Amino acid sequence: MELASGRVHVIGAGLAGLSAAVRLSRAGLNVSVHETAKHAGGRCRSFFDDALDATIDNGTHLLLSGNREVLDYADLIGGAGELHHAPRAAFEFKDLEAKDSWCVDLGASGGLSLIRWLWDTRRHPPGLKPAGFLSDVWALRGGRDKSVAACIDSSSHLARNFWRPLCLAVLNGEPTESSAYLLWAMLRRSVLKGGAFAKPVFAPDGLGAALVDPALAVLSGLGAEVHFQRRITKLDIEGAHVGSIRFANAAEVLSENDAVILAVPHQNVAELIEGVDAPPGSNAILNVHYRIAQTVDEPRMLGIVGGETEWLFQRADIVSVTISAANAWMDKDTDAIAHTLWPEVAQALDINGDALAYRVIKERRATFAATPEALALRPATRTHLKNLYLAGDWTDTGLPATLESAAMSGRLAAEAVMRDMAR
Ligand SMILES: Cc1cc2nc3c(=O)[nH]c(=O)nc-3n(C[C@H](O)[C@H](O)[C@H](O)COP(=O)(O)OP(=O)(O)OC[C@H]3O[C@@H](n4cnc5c(N)ncnc54)[C@H](O)[C@@H]3O)c2cc1C
Repeated sequence: MELASGRVHVIGAGLAGLSAAVRLSRAGLNVSVHETAKHAGGRCRSFFDDALDATIDNGTHLLLSGNREVLDYADLIGGAGELHHAPRAAFEFKDLEAKDSWCVDLGASGGLSLIRWLWDTRRHPPGLKPAGFLSDVWALRGGRDKSVAACIDSSSHLARNFWRPLCLAVLNGEPTESSAYLLWAMLRRSVLKGGAFAKPVFAPDGLGAALVDPALAVLSGLGAEVHFQRRITKLDIEGAHVGSIRFANAAEVLSENDAVILAVPHQNVAELIEGVDAPPGSNAILNVHYRIAQTVDEPRMLGIVGGETEWLFQRADIVSVTISAANAWMDKDTDAIAHTLWPEVAQALDINGDALAYRVIKERRATFAATPEALALRPATRTHLKNLYLAGDWTDTGLPATLESAAMSGRLAAEAVMRDMAR
């Protein structure tokens, strides 16, 4: 396929922007990436933290073996070797209140393995009965305009021990507020296909090493321009096109064959362009990273119920607390947060004494608020302007605001540009 000779301007070097830019560069197009920060990766970035004396991710991310878009992207950029696949979809849980523990062990295979799992009580959370589970799943499937809570029996043990932790992890929202449809979308791509599609995938050296640095290397090798610290302030509209891109005291006028992929987070869209919908609300995520004396060879994770902590992830000697839908935590003092949560970590991991160091990271706008109402405000890849395309976890991928959605949105935007530029 011969492509027109235009330049594609990708605004935002998060996973969505990188996914688009790499594909377009590989197809031989001229690509310029404009990123406001000093670094790429957006919400999925790694950095060296002096307090912890370690490289950490800004937020601990869970990937699953069913996240085909991210895994394909990692393959494309040569980052797949940086990802560690757990041998089975086994998720350990501790109940700090009831002093109980269990493992949700979906096994390692696909096909009918879910049926075997449903009838094997040793691999369940307490309170899971096959009929109740299947009826909840069926209700979620039909819950296009409903919340998760409206589709499940919220007072059940299953809701406390399984649906709420899953909903918080996947949708970054409480079941009362979060879209049943989006939870269903995640379930049908992973859990419901069996353990083979729900194995945790970790990045032992951080997400940057797996998903960001290799993409920058590919872009550099292909001659793409990547401009850091270049904040785009406005896209000027001329007729049915974006006519120019404005940034600090300068503007780049676009030629007839140029295109723009807007890959910024949902909350930044309105200031850049008029007439493009984006989900209005955001939910926060709180991560507290502690350095501890005990180290592990392989990354591991632990689900927590009956406390404030929702998940613990450990990589080497850094153990990280994740709390989703954490809006109420954002204005609290960081030291107080670290001291409040440490006793839960110590209880869950049987640690005596204090953490050696800690770092609290508040992401106020970690994802859009995945309410049923927000679905209608997720725009498609193509826009009302002929040369403007959208990418980002908030666009209408049919998936929750995740790395999977971001990677997919970038692929869809690149494909749309290439189709439109084909001669
Ligand atoms: C704490 C935390 C935990 C998470 N946990 C998970 C998880 O477990 N699993 C999962 O799959 N997902 C998780 N996510 C979500 C995941 O990180 C995002 O869905 C994904 O990174 C979004 O990528 P993106 O490219 O759409 O947006 P972003 O990563 O936000 O990238 C957008 C980029 O645009 C840049 N930008 C903004 N405005 C401008 C401008 N005017 N000019 C130029 N550049 C601009 C930004 O600096 C940024 O680099 C988590 C997110 C957070 C914050």
